[in-house]
Amino acid sequence: MLPANLQLPSAQTQISAYPVFPMKEPDFNDPKTKQAMEHIRSILGFIGDDANREGLIDTPRRVIKAYYEHFCGYSMDPAEPLSRTFTEIEGYDQMVLLSGIEIQSHCEHHMVPFVGKAHVAYIPDGRVVGLSKLAKVVEIFSKRLQVQEKLTAQIAGSIQEHLKPRGVAVVVQARHYCMCYRGVHQPHAWTTTSKLTGVFLNNLATREEFLRLISITQSPSM
Ligand SMILES: [Zn+2]
Repeated sequence: MLPANLQLPSAQTQISAYPVFPMKEPDFNDPKTKQAMEHIRSILGFIGDDANREGLIDTPRRVIKAYYEHFCGYSMDPAEPLSRTFTEIEGYDQMVLLSGIEIQSHCEHHMVPFVGKAHVAYIPDGRVVGLSKLAKVVEIFSKRLQVQEKLTAQIAGSIQEHLKPRGVAVVVQARHYCMCYRGVHQPHAWTTTSKLTGVFLNNLATREEFLRLISITQSPSM
């Protein structure tokens, strides 16, 4: 359980505010943390700079703090936000869609950011989950080293596994900085991935309704 001063104020802000999860402070006395800081100093020398100059002297410490934030998803279990469900829904059995969820992740090949949006829908089978919990699941998986295809599949898979709805649909649209400013240098290219299960996969009308709803609620703009 997190300390009270790290709790976010309300469920409503959790959908749009970033990060969804409060950050832990790194333990700078931990030998593993000290070792990681040494490695960052080595990298600063490797690129041709002087790790001891004024502007860089605290950089390893800052990088460690940033890594705690970028990769906090490793210490979080996606089952947790999906564990509390609600059954008093008056028989609601139509689509639930949360579109425009922020994605701020890092590619596992280059450790540079990819950023964009996720759109997550499901069709309940007798129970629903709090809307903010869908955003939390997206964040838990995106705050790890990722490839977009795996991220998309993990979001859909965990919702399918823990909520057991009639189907899940996830679309992720992102720009990969490893493609923007290095390699093929395509700063305007968007990558779109989707993962569909259950009725979204087997029923064309359901799939088209999902795609129509995300197209009228979102466009991939930065
Ligand atoms: Zn990459």
